[in-house]
Amino acid sequence: MKTLKIAIQKSGRLNEKSVEILKTCGLSFENYKSSLISSVTNFPLEILFLRDDDIPEYVQDGIADLGIVGENVIEETGADVHYLQKLGFGKCTLKIAVPATESYTSIEELNGKAIATSYPVILDNFLKSKGVEAQIRVISGSVEIGPGLGLSDAICDIVSTGGTLKNNGLKPFADVMRSEAVLIANKTIYDAPEVAELLQRIRSVLKAKS
Ligand code: ATP
Ligand code: ZN
Repeated sequence: MKTLKIAIQKSGRLNEKSVEILKTCGLSFENYKSSLISSVTNFPLEILFLRDDDIPEYVQDGIADLGIVGENVIEETGADVHYLQKLGFGKCTLKIAVPATESYTSIEELNGKAIATSYPVILDNFLKSKGVEAQIRVISGSVEIGPGLGLSDAICDIVSTGGTLKNNGLKPFADVMRSEAVLIANKTIYDAPEVAELLQRIRSVLKAKS
């Protein structure tokens, strides 16, 4: 059997659940410490611990055969990968938010406005689909402070509880994309027997949970 490589997040919101699902499948391996690769002792599989942003392209290019990553990251990178399975964790929504004092009623009112985001590709696709022309200001983090600093009129970011928005005088305005963690595969290997075996185990775990 070919030894597969699966890329998962090294640390962050998806790491714990990614490790958990693989362990619940009966796979035995050492969790990430300082080594970026861990060998599974009872299945032909190696686990690569990476930043989530790198996972879609690694899978597209075949450096990893499989990956666990948020749909938002796949869409943002534009990587060409095969979707195998939604995993039911890491759920979040990418939203446009505006100052709480504004009373926008339609998306068209964003025409000519500046929107700060770390997701320029997803936002651009969304605005195009709505026929809205806005200026996208790319910031790598803490985009919520954009409007307060006069950097932008609105933001587009992942919102879970809405607490961060509120603390920065913002309110949600429009949903851009829902996302959850998914299992992806390289397009040349997704139907290999080793992948089918692992996928079947993952599906059994998901079924037992639901
Ligand atoms: P890395 O160091 O790997 O680049 P990161 O800081 O980019 O990590 P995390 O904050 O760990 O990423 O989020 C990883 C993924 O978790 C997101 O891309 C998204 O798919 C998902 N997610 C779920 N809920 C949230 C949330 N409330 N905020 C941000 N991301 C969330
Ligand atoms: Zn990241």
